[in-house]
Amino acid sequence: MKIIRTIQEMQAESDRMRSDGLKIGFVPTMGFLHEGHLSLIREAGRRTDRIVVSIFVNPTQFGPKEDFAAYPRDFERDRKLAEAEGTDIIFNPPDTEMYPSGHCTHVDVDGLTETLCGASRPGHFRGVTTVVAKLFTAVKPHVAVFGQKDAQQAAVIRRMTADLNLDVEIVVAAIVRETDGLAMSSRNVYLSPSERADATVLRKSLLAAEELFRKGERDASTLVRSVKSMIESKPSARVDYVELSDPDTLQPMDKARSGGLLAVAVFIGKTRLIDNLILP
Ligand code: AMP
Repeated sequence: MKIIRTIQEMQAESDRMRSDGLKIGFVPTMGFLHEGHLSLIREAGRRTDRIVVSIFVNPTQFGPKEDFAAYPRDFERDRKLAEAEGTDIIFNPPDTEMYPSGHCTHVDVDGLTETLCGASRPGHFRGVTTVVAKLFTAVKPHVAVFGQKDAQQAAVIRRMTADLNLDVEIVVAAIVRETDGLAMSSRNVYLSPSERADATVLRKSLLAAEELFRKGERDASTLVRSVKSMIESKPSARVDYVELSDPDTLQPMDKARSGGLLAVAVFIGKTRLIDNLILP
């Protein structure tokens, strides 16, 4: 496995793989890898000949009061985990390589980024789309794999890729969970034991709403109220949003229908967690 830290070297390596006729799969991450990330690496491996994993904690997608400095990092551990899954290249550029002084070009996806996480994290998606576009031009992948855990991010990246005619197939892989249902996240390490117990309410509240839907409930606000009230019953939890949206446009839905995206963001203590499900 190679570790590459410059864009120029990454591009040269990708050009070589492409001229050898090899299909490149790409998994962008911010590191501190867990089983969710590893499932994306395996998905890339099933679809392509070479796997590139980027590890880059992207400063531009964090707000000024968010956890950029505190975000968990452990490159040695990530290196071993990625290698064990068959990763061929880790692309791990320093911040100055991705954002040299004078950098002033951004990618904005309008319409899909003002709702849900975009409403509570202004500027977040601009940071995400800008870095993903830059990572695509560095890695030149045929296929890029993202997680359904970040459902809005996946929709925004799909839209950006289509709108900019980027020649990359976007694959979205299922959410990987702990045995008690909590969606795996690098941020779960922030939770105290009692917060960790409360955090299972995200999944439980979504499943309870899914059950109401199965029984015939179609009023979106009733489903949303049910999720909110379950979450608010936990002492450490504060709802950021609960919304039922169209999974592609991310616009709110009044009437629940199959395929609708029911998504939540919740502060458990100081830690903001997200989860979602697609109505069956
Ligand atoms: P991150 O390192 O948090 O930026 O995540 C990198 C990629 O892993 C994103 O595409 C996430 O959606 C995906 N991911 C994070 N957590 C999970 C999970 N529990 N299951 C599946 N994919 C995940």
